[in-house]
Parts: sequence; C-alpha cells; structure tokens
Amino acid sequence: MRISPNPQIANLAPYQPGKPISELAREFNLNPNAIIKLASNENPLGCSPKIKQAITAELAKLARYPDGASFMLKQKLAKFYQLQTEQITIGNGSNDILDLLARIFLNEQSNAIFSAHAFIVYKLATITSGAKFKEIAAQNYAHDLNAIANAVDAQTKIIFLANPNNPTGSWFKQDELIAFLNKIPVSVLVVLDEAYYEYAQGDDFANGLSLVNKYPNLLVTRTFSKVYGLAGLRIGFAISQPDIADMLNRARQPFNVNSLAQAAAIIALEDQEFVAGAIKANIKGMHQLNLGLEKLGLKVLPTKGNFMAVDFGQDVSNIDLKLQQNGVIVRPIAGYDMPNFLRISIGTEAENARLLQVLAQIL
Ligand SMILES: *Cc1c(COP(=O)(O)O)cnc(C)c1O
Repeated sequence: MRISPNPQIANLAPYQPGKPISELAREFNLNPNAIIKLASNENPLGCSPKIKQAITAELAKLARYPDGASFMLKQKLAKFYQLQTEQITIGNGSNDILDLLARIFLNEQSNAIFSAHAFIVYKLATITSGAKFKEIAAQNYAHDLNAIANAVDAQTKIIFLANPNNPTGSWFKQDELIAFLNKIPVSVLVVLDEAYYEYAQGDDFANGLSLVNKYPNLLVTRTFSKVYGLAGLRIGFAISQPDIADMLNRARQPFNVNSLAQAAAIIALEDQEFVAGAIKANIKGMHQLNLGLEKLGLKVLPTKGNFMAVDFGQDVSNIDLKLQQNGVIVRPIAGYDMPNFLRISIGTEAENARLLQVLAQIL
C-alpha cells in the first residue's frame, strides 16, 4: 500500500499565496512589466537602498554556513528594543516561529484558539501539529477578545492573536490587550502576531513588546517582510521571556535563518528613515484608495495595516478574474470565509490609481 500521511494532513488545504507576477504573465500572455501586484502586503517601495551593499558583501561568504545564533542581529534588536538578547528568537520569516510554537506546545491532546477571519497560518500550524482548534466568531470582522478568553479550557495551550489582523485590518488597543492578558492563565501561551505593527501606531494601539517582561506567557512576533520590504529573504523574530525563547531555540533548525537575510535585517533596522517614509507613503495611499473605492460605492473595512478588505456585496470570483485579465493581482479571501471581499494591498500612488481605474471599468 502507498505511504499515507498523518491523518490531519490528508484533508489540509495548502496555503494560497498571492499569484506571482510571472505566473499571471504566463497565464494570460501579459507583459510582466504591465502587471501590478497588490496581493501580498509587500512594501511597494521595496527595501532600504543600503541593503544591496550589505548583501553584496555577504556573497563572498556563501560557501559558509550562516551564524546559527544570529548573534549580530540579536545584538542590534536587543539594543533597538531595549531588551535582553536571551528574549529574542530569529525565524525564517515569522511564519517559521508560528510553526515552531505549534510543534513545541501542541499535540493531539491540546487545542489552540484563534478568531474567525484570522491569519490562516494559525489554523494550518495547529492542524499540522495534530491539535484541535477553536475558531471564535468575530465581531464586525474584529477579534472578540472576551469570547476568546472565555473559550480557554484545560486543554488550551496557545491563543493566536493578530494585531492588526490580516486580512481584515482590524485591531485592538493597549488597554484591551492588558485586560485580556489579565484573564488568561499563565499555562496558556498568548502569541501576539504584530507583523504590521510599524504601520499601525496611534490611537493607543497595543504594543506587545511593552508587556513581555510583565506577562511570562506572552510572545510577540514581528517581521522584516512588511514595512522593511524583505519578504523575499524570509526573516522575522519573536520576543518573549528567556525560558520560552530557550524552548524555541531547542526545537528550531540549527541554521533556520540564512546569511543574506541576517545581514540585510541588520541594515534594515538601522535605516529607520526608510521605515518612516514607507509609513508616510502608506497613509497617503490608504487615503487615496479609501476615497477612490468609496466613489465606486464599495465598503472598506477600517484598517491599520498596509492593506484593506473591500466588500463588493457579491461573490468576487468574476471581478477577480477580470482584474487579472487586466494585469491586476489582488487577493480573494473566500478561504477566510469572506467570499464577497477582496483584500487589496496599498501600493504606490500609480499602482493605486491603476487599480481604481481598472475597477471602475469592470464595475
Ligand atoms: C505577512 C504576515 C506575517 C509575516 O510572515 P513572514 O513569515 O514574516 O513573512 C505574519 N503574520 C501575519 C498576520 C501576516 O500577515
């Protein structure tokens, strides 16, 4: 008989990434240069121009294994965030860390809790570990923190929260996070995914890093994939108390983060001027898209990320297809139980204008 996987893998639906530009170009015979991709919440400005030099210097050392301890990067992060290096775990993207956490803490006897419409990787990592999950109904597409806290039972090991959440853009504030953490037993790990933190400030937006030293069961993930513009290199990190970082360090691959990514992340962190520019551009782009989409009669969920969930009031499959035929890639989110929505990443001014123009044509 043919080899079969563990039972939980058999029915697992693979993660559906945004369609790469090269793939759409092949599919519809389009010029790749005429395609815009607003589908994966990448930074439309690219990354800091200083990174190229750092990577070039690394190229001479490609035959060597990377620093498995990411020593230099941890030093930089510890200084930048005023934390101890022992609190930091570097991952091959923050996705690596989410996966590791599921492997370390979950098994067939336990469960993880997350919100409906939350980042799908929480569900994928949980199912892959063999554990059960509780998906808690959202409130206006936002996490219902009270209902999540109330769902904790004796088998719960992890709660995954995304702030802001992808794909909805919803968020919660610092006082809401503190009230939530005060209700959660220390035997349950709260994984607070802050992939879009840098974009999301203001309005007393919650800052998980300010709370890790107070709550021994809090772990915060951040990434270089979004505002820092390094999605292609795969590098992110977690901040927790040292004992949890130690567990992650035991279970991770010895060389989980490549040398180019480590070198680039150090420079990226130093170039906060680039980050500030990207945040400013995002605010402008959000304005532009909000106005334009509203003019088209579309409803946009409030967002604090570099993307927005747009309600078309009808199944979007056909609209998505027409956008693709016109060289525009966005993200359908039927897999998030939102079949009437498209998630649109905020692009450059020109990209946003093109999207609005094509949408106007289609609708
Ligand atoms: C993009 C994203 C991440 C980042 O993933 P990486 O593996 O760091 O590229 C994590 N969480 C959420 C909610 C995201 O949208």
